[in-house]
Amino acid sequence: MKANMRSQEQDLFTLKNKVIVVTGATGVLGGSFVEAISKHGATVILIGQNEVVGEQRAAFIRSQGGEALFLKANVLVEAELEAAKNKAVEKYGFLHGLVNGAGGNLPEGVLSPDQDVFTMNMEGMKKTMDLNVWGTLLPVQVFGPAIAKSGAGSIVNISSVNAKRTVTRGLGYSMGKAAIDLYTKWFAVEMANRYGDTVRINSIMPGFFLTKQNKSLLTKEDGSLTDRGNLIIKNTPFKRFGSPDELTGALIWLLSDASKFVTGMDIGVDGGFTINTGV
Ligand code: NAD
Repeated sequence: MKANMRSQEQDLFTLKNKVIVVTGATGVLGGSFVEAISKHGATVILIGQNEVVGEQRAAFIRSQGGEALFLKANVLVEAELEAAKNKAVEKYGFLHGLVNGAGGNLPEGVLSPDQDVFTMNMEGMKKTMDLNVWGTLLPVQVFGPAIAKSGAGSIVNISSVNAKRTVTRGLGYSMGKAAIDLYTKWFAVEMANRYGDTVRINSIMPGFFLTKQNKSLLTKEDGSLTDRGNLIIKNTPFKRFGSPDELTGALIWLLSDASKFVTGMDIGVDGGFTINTGV
C-alpha cells in the first residue's frame, strides 16, 4: 500500500507519453531543459538554428534511451515554424507542451555606460524586443493548436528578473520580457475561457545564469567577473549565479500534472535577487 502511494506521488511529475517542443534547444539553458524533459519520460522536439548542436543533443538523448527529434527553425519565421510543426505532428500525432527557450539580450540592444541615453540604438532595441516577444508568441500561435488538441497541454515561457527590477543597460530586453509577463497572464485567461483547464501557460523567471548571451557582460576574457558580474553576486542573497539544472525542477513541475491547477503564474528561480532590498 505504502509503495503504491509512493509511486503515485512520483507519477505526478512524470512526462511519460507526452511530446514536448523546446525552442532555443541549442542554447545553454535549453540544453538543460531538453535533457530534464527526456529524463522525465517525454519525447523532445528540439527547435534551433544550429544544426550541429541540435543534432548532437538529439542523438545524445536517443543514446540514453530517450526519443528526440531536432528540427531547424527560426522562431521569428512563421513558415519555418509551420514546417517544423507539420513534421512533428506527422511523426508523433499530438503535441503536449511547448517551452519557449529562444530569446536573450542582443549586443546591439545594450546601452554602454559612455553612450548618450538620448541616442540609444532604437533598431537594436526593437530587434531585441522582437526576438523576446514575437519569438515567443509566434511559436505559441503555430504549435498551440496541436497542443490544445491533446486535451492536456502546458506552455512555459521564459521571463527574466529584468522584467521585475530595474537592471541597467538592456532596456529592449527588459521591455521584451515585461511584455512576456503580461502575455502569459492574458493568454492564460483567454485559453481558460476557450479550453477550460486543458491548456495552461506559465512562465519561469530565472535570475542570473552564466550563458552565451550574457557571458561578455558578466565575465572578462580571463574568466574573472566584470564589475557588473560582481554587483549581481553582491545583490543575490545566495551570492552566486544559478546553474542551468536548477531551473529544471520548476520546468518539470509546470509541464507535468503536478501543477494542473496552475496557470498564468510566473515562477521565480533567482537565488533571492528579486526580493532583496540590499538592506
Ligand atoms: P543562450 O544564448 O545560450 O540560448 C538562447 C538560444 O536561443 C540560442 O540557442 C539561440 O541560438 C536561440 N535563438 C536566438 N534567436 C533565435 C531565433 N531567431 N530562432 C531560433 N532560435 C534562436 O541563452 P540562455 O541564457 O540559455 O537563454 C535562454 C532563455 O532564458 C532566453 O529567453 C533568455 O532571455 C532567458 N534568460 C536567461 C537568463 C540567464 O541568466 N542566462 C536569465 C533570465 C532569462
